Amino acid sequence: MPEAARSDRVEGAVLVGEGEWGRVIGRLKQEVGEAAYRSWLKSMRFERVADGEGVIAVPTRFLRNWVATHYADRLLALWRTENEQVNRLAIIVEPRVAAFAQAKDEEMVTAPAALAEPLAMPDIVEVGANLSAPLDPRFTFENFIVGKPNELAHAAARRVAEACVSPAHSVPFNPLFLYGGVGLGKTHLMHAIAWHVRMQAPGRKVIYLSAEKFMYQFIRALRFRSTMDFKDQFRSVDLLMIDDVQFISGKDSTQEEFFHTFNALVDQNRQIVISADKSPSDLAGLEERMRSRLGWGLVADIHPTTYELRLGILQSKAEQSALRLPQKILEFLAHKIVSNVRELEGALNRIIAQMQLVGREITLEGAQDLLHDLLRANERRVTIDEIQRRVAEHFNIKMAEMTSSRRARAVARPRQVAMYLSKQLTSRSLPEIGRKFGGRDHTTVIHAVKKIEELIESDSALAEDVELLRRMLQS
Ligand code: ADP
Ligand code: MG
Repeated sequence: MPEAARSDRVEGAVLVGEGEWGRVIGRLKQEVGEAAYRSWLKSMRFERVADGEGVIAVPTRFLRNWVATHYADRLLALWRTENEQVNRLAIIVEPRVAAFAQAKDEEMVTAPAALAEPLAMPDIVEVGANLSAPLDPRFTFENFIVGKPNELAHAAARRVAEACVSPAHSVPFNPLFLYGGVGLGKTHLMHAIAWHVRMQAPGRKVIYLSAEKFMYQFIRALRFRSTMDFKDQFRSVDLLMIDDVQFISGKDSTQEEFFHTFNALVDQNRQIVISADKSPSDLAGLEERMRSRLGWGLVADIHPTTYELRLGILQSKAEQSALRLPQKILEFLAHKIVSNVRELEGALNRIIAQMQLVGREITLEGAQDLLHDLLRANERRVTIDEIQRRVAEHFNIKMAEMTSSRRARAVARPRQVAMYLSKQLTSRSLPEIGRKFGGRDHTTVIHAVKKIEELIESDSALAEDVELLRRMLQS
């Protein structure tokens, strides 16, 4: 925004609240780093504080949406630590012309077109002309924590990124197909590849798109009869990444187009990276030739998180927040929020916001209170009935044997396994478990648990059965 217009308006004086805004933005800059600051936050201008509302202006709607979805919570929290009267945040769009008009005491002045400079859009948007979607500044390799569940996907992504910037510009595997459940880091890895290429080899043309956006662009091109342009745009890229291709399946013409584009790029030795929530062979509604083609390169899956990975992610995010978060809180979260990384981050952010508001450490009970909804949703919902059914199926005995009084080894052992798993996987008490197994005493359940624990140590076949059942029940 024009400096001249600003000083006109305030006649050299500092606006009330401008100083605190300077500190807010300074702290956010420290948190997100220089690159993100320059891309998203630098063009923000302080407007005013009035009636509990902090108002800032950005030059474009795009930036407003971006700031609102990615930084608004943090901005508000930081602002409140500076000025506790601020309890709302408004982000307004004020392109240059509008600012001009306002500067002259609301009298409408139309800035001459020749004077209007192009608005400073974040440069990231330029990747791959206007086709590519914006990249999240937080999704870099530096911010990605590697553990057992994601090490293959991470190594493959790194390999692709490095090959793409190397002078030889080799293509290690084509395509790289990343798949895994929601919130496990697929999009993060794709953005990380794009960032790496952008930083190391800005001349390379990279397009990152969701499959939905790809479809939308294609259908629009059909309508405006510019399919040739559309194809050319894609066919001139060095690296094409399409996120969430499970959404492409089923739409015939788009699939057809995707297939042709895909083949053309592979033939020209251009790198392609695809993500989906399932492996190529499990993707429904995909043509057979597409399915097999997708599996030609490297297929890397991201497994559900482990405790160690969750703790690692929390520790790294806690460090970035520059707050002192008690280790036992982090361990508690890593134990309890098992669904995916997105929820884990959500939980941590809530705790951070709370600590900033009250200005002191949070207790374990406090955290439990704050997160009760998330915690409930993350509880394992395995029931004893389900355990009994699975175990009976696995050992090929009748479900009725779970509650019968027969003591033959062939039925007693599976029954003990089911009791053991009930103790492990549900929050039921021993007497409750006993009742579910034909009204047995709680000491029988204790005996079963001990017996199976012993056998797991000495009988590897049984140990495997138990492990298999556990995984099946928990998935
Ligand atoms: P997906 O695309 O697989 O649904 P995302 O890539 O959007 O998941 O990840 C969800 C959130 O979790 C993002 O904020 C991302 O930064 C974070 N995340 C996922 N995996 C990791 C990881 N290994 N290290 C750090 N952050 C991660
Ligand atoms: Mg994603």
